[in-house]
Amino acid sequence: MRPAESADHPALFMIVRRGEILVEARPEGFAVPTAMVDIPHGTHHILGSTAEGTWVYGVDVAERTDEPDDHLWVPLRQLYGKIDETLWVVAGRAEQIISWDRTHQYCGRCGAATVAQTTERSRKCPSCALLAYPRLSPAVITLVTRGEGQDEEALLAWGRQFPGRFYSTLAGFVEPGENLEQCVAREIMEEVGVTVSDITYFGSQPWPFPNSLMLGFTARYVGGELVLQEEEIVEAGWFRADALPPCPRGGMSIAGALIESWLRRMGQ
Ligand SMILES: [Zn+2]
Repeated sequence: MRPAESADHPALFMIVRRGEILVEARPEGFAVPTAMVDIPHGTHHILGSTAEGTWVYGVDVAERTDEPDDHLWVPLRQLYGKIDETLWVVAGRAEQIISWDRTHQYCGRCGAATVAQTTERSRKCPSCALLAYPRLSPAVITLVTRGEGQDEEALLAWGRQFPGRFYSTLAGFVEPGENLEQCVAREIMEEVGVTVSDITYFGSQPWPFPNSLMLGFTARYVGGELVLQEEEIVEAGWFRADALPPCPRGGMSIAGALIESWLRRMGQ
């Protein structure tokens, strides 16, 4: 079904300028525009509709496009918590689809200009028929625990890419030909040198920085001393629930949800 084009049909416009979303700055906070604002823009992408039947469009805007009065460009990550969480996820969807569309204007095999398909979200090469779909990179993220009762400890690591001393659960991208459990075991072995068992699915989350789907797991420690992969990990250790280092607690990441869930189970 195509959205109604009439001006009175409820709609939301996720206007994207390379990783940034245009929002109206109102006294009560940020709002996503409900009509297209008066700025130069490129393709409109239909992203779907909300549960209330509001159509959502993603609109591609060139870099260095100025914001209209009373509007701001806000980086997607900084927008978290400033608009409704459901809308924030849709903003991430808009950013990823627009970025994919921009970077797949030419065929990756023969270099011919591609054409957007109308029946599905893909771009097709008219010369060699190669199809390009929006890319997702699945990644696993795992909370490893050891010990029993109040002596139970969680394995957390300070990643080299973190801006300061900050610990989190271990994560890594899935490789071609690997299942998720193999990926969890491999990443933990590579990054900290220990073996795990009881790999259990926890939950998933779209992670638009830039194109991930994060798949959360819990696992139990089996054996091995901590041996760090120094290019990725500054420090790693086993921490009790009552003595955690700086780490995500709740918030927008699945790492925060994994740690929060463990703390609840530990009565913290
Ligand atoms: Zn081609």
